[in-house]
Amino acid sequence: MSKGLLLVLSAPSGCGKTTIVNRVMKRLPGLVFSVSHTTRHPRPGEIDGVHYHFVTSSVFSRIRDGQPAGFLEWAEVHGNLYGTSVEEVRRHQQAGYDVILDIDVQGAAQVREHASPVTIFIAPPTLSELERRLRGRGTEDAATLALRLENARKELACVSAYEYLIINDRLDEAVESLRSIIIAERSRQRRTLSGQTMPWGT
Ligand code: ADP
Ligand code: 5GP
Repeated sequence: MSKGLLLVLSAPSGCGKTTIVNRVMKRLPGLVFSVSHTTRHPRPGEIDGVHYHFVTSSVFSRIRDGQPAGFLEWAEVHGNLYGTSVEEVRRHQQAGYDVILDIDVQGAAQVREHASPVTIFIAPPTLSELERRLRGRGTEDAATLALRLENARKELACVSAYEYLIINDRLDEAVESLRSIIIAERSRQRRTLSGQTMPWGT
């Protein structure tokens, strides 16, 4: 049975990752978004179970510290805890879906230790444009916005650890880049699996 790809996407907050992923998912079948657990409070419009599983710190710790551990990776990001459910990723992959993990640079490093993800970094054209987008989104108070911008500089220093870099300048081009990367990686996986599954054998 073919197993879905694990696609790890990281980007500084406000860069446009959610916007890009939503558009690619509408245009490319076979993709599923892994809904993370977080202790962050929901933003207006965010739905529990759709955007995140919003949990308390004690629930988060219980999942994290379970035997076996319930998170494939977890990290503290901008003062909140975030984690990817092992069970959710496994279920989607076994159903043949390619799974998108929207996780930070710390989480990406952990996933690389256990699995062979396709890693993609999305960067803003400039830091001032990132600030403009983050302010324009209007979801952060002044302190949270400052923290996210400060962290953006550190996250951008990690680009070289990723296989692909997309600069989200023009949105339609960034969407097309991500879509193309996924199509190419599907072809690579098909070639790798061909010895096992194709009638002409090895
Ligand atoms: P992230 O998920 O990376 O935190 P969002 O997808 O929420 O970021 O995008 C942040 C803001 O930037 C949103 O208001 C979105 O509409 C806007 N945005 C996204 N991509 C672009 C782009 N290429 N040009 C201009 N604005 C953009
Ligand atoms: P936000 O609060 O803006 O939704 O996300 C903040 C940051 O947390 C983003 O960089 C996002 O990629 C990251 N993030 C979201 N879910 C997870 C997760 O499950 N694990 C890790 N390590 N980071 C996550």
